[in-house]
Amino acid sequence: MDNCIFCKIIKGDIPSTIIYEDEKAIAFEDINPQAPVHFLVIPKEHIISAKYIDESNKDLMGHLLFIASKLAKEKGLDEGYRIVNNCGIDGGQTVEHIHFHVLGKRKMLWPPG
Ligand code: 5GP
Ligand code: ZN
Repeated sequence: MDNCIFCKIIKGDIPSTIIYEDEKAIAFEDINPQAPVHFLVIPKEHIISAKYIDESNKDLMGHLLFIASKLAKEKGLDEGYRIVNNCGIDGGQTVEHIHFHVLGKRKMLWPPG
């Protein structure tokens, strides 16, 4: 997608602090962190949101969660962390390229706002 911020980050057209990359996914630091640790895990394929998860990409979603867990371990989030996916307008999604937030090193509240 030509005007997608995250596709531009994948291509290197927008700078970011990339902390992980493989053939299917990347992870990078959130530009506006909401916790001492806050990074995003995204597929290289442009999938708009969780609404578009189907048979063709469900394994990729598992891969993204695997990366989230692996990086959380590497970042020492031993006391726990939160994985967030915002979907659509009601979910508070602002970038229309599916992403998992990983937030840690502070106590999270529940319910979320
Ligand atoms: P959403 O609100 O869609 O769940 O999350 C989008 C996230 O992307 C936000 O936490 C926001 O700070 C982050 N973000 C938006 N633009 C950029 C950018 O250009 N670079 C980085 N690293 N993060 C971004
Ligand atoms: Zn995209």
